[in-house]
Amino acid sequence: MPAIGVFALQGDVREHLQTLTALGADAFPVRRPTELARCDGLVLPGGESTTMSKLARTFELLDPLRERIAGGMPTFGTCAGMILLADRIEGGTADQETIGGLDVTVRRNAFGRQVDSFEADLPFTGLDAPVHAVFIRAPWVEATGPSVEVLARAQDHPVAVRQGHLMATSFHPEVDGDGRVHRLFVEMVASAGVRAQG
Ligand code: GLN
Repeated sequence: MPAIGVFALQGDVREHLQTLTALGADAFPVRRPTELARCDGLVLPGGESTTMSKLARTFELLDPLRERIAGGMPTFGTCAGMILLADRIEGGTADQETIGGLDVTVRRNAFGRQVDSFEADLPFTGLDAPVHAVFIRAPWVEATGPSVEVLARAQDHPVAVRQGHLMATSFHPEVDGDGRVHRLFVEMVASAGVRAQG
């Protein structure tokens, strides 16, 4: 059973833990480096990306997160978590740091005020029926590097991507979802065979 942590300094942690547990993963919150060391895989949840990166720095998780992700730990970012995984941000605050690793440019709050939140059923590569996607002040992917595969689009913009051991969605598959996107991630973790470091 893969050990999958959910970054838990801020964000919608509980929904991810419930979804992962229902899929049979050993899911637990990650607030400190010792908990990160146990992870075979990690979820970066939705929330507020500037707050999340500041807290990660304060709690001495930012550099360990960068090391584990660069070292191949499968990681899945949703919404703010997608922003944290991105190498480049548009519309961020001047001092906004990311964890990085995913060769994309992400635009924060991209869908604009008029459609702050919306839902859509989207075809998703690797899944045989569309995914019900809930967007909440969501980013979109503005540009992708050559090794990034686009898995889903909304309003013509990429909103789900994969690059090797990294996956990210602009939307919240843990909200009102059926677990299929998380199942893809659990399978990524299981097949990566990355074992806990400590
Ligand atoms: N707009 C938020 C941010 O930029 C992300 C919103 C979310 O995670 N639902 O951090």
